[in-house]
Parts: sequence; structure tokens; C-alpha cells
Amino acid sequence: MKVTPSLCAALLVVTSATALRAEPDPRWLGHDRERPMAPVVTPATPSTQEQPGKAPSDATVLFDGKDLSAWAAMDGTPTKWVMKDGAMECVPGSGYIRTLQAFGDCQLHIEWAAPAKVEGDSQGRGNSGVFFGMGRYEVQVLDSYESKTYADGAAASVYNQYPPLANATLPPGSWQTYDIIWTAPRFDDAGALVSKARLTVFHNGVLVQNNVELTGPTAWIGRPPYSAHPLRLPLALQDHGNPVRYRNVWVRELGQPRHKEFTLPEALLASYVGEYGQNGKPHGKVSRLPNGLLAVTVGGVELEMHAASPTHFYALTTDVQVEFSEGGKKLAVTVGEEFSRAMRWERISP
Ligand code: MG
Repeated sequence: MKVTPSLCAALLVVTSATALRAEPDPRWLGHDRERPMAPVVTPATPSTQEQPGKAPSDATVLFDGKDLSAWAAMDGTPTKWVMKDGAMECVPGSGYIRTLQAFGDCQLHIEWAAPAKVEGDSQGRGNSGVFFGMGRYEVQVLDSYESKTYADGAAASVYNQYPPLANATLPPGSWQTYDIIWTAPRFDDAGALVSKARLTVFHNGVLVQNNVELTGPTAWIGRPPYSAHPLRLPLALQDHGNPVRYRNVWVRELGQPRHKEFTLPEALLASYVGEYGQNGKPHGKVSRLPNGLLAVTVGGVELEMHAASPTHFYALTTDVQVEFSEGGKKLAVTVGEEFSRAMRWERISP
């Protein structure tokens, strides 16, 4: 099998689409000498209590003690959480925070510390949470050190669904690690569930969740069913009223997606909706899909669009890319070509 650049590109896409497949890829022979080797990655260095470690070379660093630039409030406005001694700290009452970037299946490393001074008990003691799917699916963060609460709400529980297999919690004030493997749920085009979400969690290196299958979003009371959402969504951290701290946060997205994706503020997406064309004659339109993403209709075909930046969007099924400018007054559209050859439209309505 001869591996050409275009074949490599095709393989990347196929790898992404079949990330969930648990069988050897039938396109390669056993020990196939033509098969590309895995990419080289410089591994992470471990943290100590005094010093956070370093992310592996291929990770997206979400927080390395320098700034909060990868994070926002849930509505996309600047977060009110603060930086303190190289950590980011929840300001009680300021709300959850989320990453600007969206992630599908991923490996997440995150370190957290409950307040050293113990206040409260049970669910009121050092409570926060690591969420996947933009606030839908919680791995509990809680000071469970010699502290009693309900089992499926303890540290490293999948909240209200799965207690951890062991309580590996360190004393309050200690830095603790979660290494989490997230498999996002899949939905078909009609919004029906195709496969459930899965979580594997190591707490301070101890396996505490072994590929558990979530019943749906995690909720305080009850187990609501799944409802369709995009595959890639921001990670989020919970404000549960306690000043929990985080450091050394990095993520490796699995499935080798071609482009980064960002989840933009609602108001920005809404501002792009309208009809676009030339000299008052409509050529295409921008609308919203039921899952919240933007759609562009070009050549009579409606395409789901994903944000690579606040102004640049791409489709997954065809190489269609669009770039908004002048606050959504202008739109450049390319189909399989460079932007120098783009169709350039202006906003007609509203
Ligand atoms: Mg929580």
C-alpha cells in the first residue's frame, strides 16, 4: 500500500470517524511494513505538591499557571475566577467556567485542591466538579478525606450514577490529580442517541471509574435522558460555593480532528444569522440548527458549520469554509479553494 499525502489526509478523517471502533483496522495487514508509525510524543512530567509537572508535547494546555485565557464564564464572557499563587481559584457565586475550545473524545489531566481549612461537611466541603459536554456530565470534585457523604456523590464519582471504586482522596489542601478518558455520546442527524457517553477516571493514579456508561446527563436528583448535542463541546468546572483551586490542566483530543473548534458566545452566533448575496441578490443564508450550531446554505445545500475562531467556520462533510468580517456585514465563502478565490457576499437581511 503506497501512502500518499492525500491518502494520509483521508486516513486522518477516517480515523476520526471510527474512533470508537474496537477492532483492528482491516485496511492494514498484520505487521504491515507500509503502515505509518505512531506520532512521537514527549511524555508529561509528574507534579509534586510543590511544583506542577509539564504537559505532554501534543497536549492542548488549558492552564499552566500563567493566565486564564483558555477559560470563560459559561455564556462566553470573561470569567470571574481568579489567579492565585499559580493556581486558578473558584470565586464562590461567580458561576461555572468553561473552556473556549470545544473537545470531543479526550484525555484530560487536571489537578485540584480543596481548601486546607475545613469548613462544612458532606457535599458542602470542598465541592466543585469537572464537567464534559458543557456542563452536562460531572466527575465530582469533593473533599472526601475522612468525610462522609452519599457514595455516588463522593470525590471522583460520576455524580448520582457511579461511586468511585476506591476513595483515593488526599488531605484537604493537598494537590490531587484526575486523569480522565472521556468518550462523548453520539447522536444521529435526527437527534436520536446512537451510543452513550463513557468515562474512565484515575484519582491520584488509582483507577476509580472503569469505562462506565453514563445513563445521561448527571443531575442532583433523578437521571434525565440524553438530549442531542454537538460531539465537541467545552469542558467546564463547577462553582459549588467553595474556593477550590485548579492547576496543570491539559487535554489531548482523541481521533485526530482536522481543525480546532471553539464554542462561541450565543450573541455572537446570533449576530451572523441572515441572508447574504451580491448587489441585493441573495446567494446564501446563515441560520441556526436545533443543536445550536451555525448553518450555511450554499448552492442550495445546508451545511453544519464549526467555529475555528470567532469569525472563521468550517463544514465537516465538504471543504466549505466561511469567514465573517465587519461584524457579520460581509461573508467570504470558499468551496475547496483558497480564500483568494472566495465568493464575497454582503449582508442583505435582516
Ligand atoms: Mg460538584
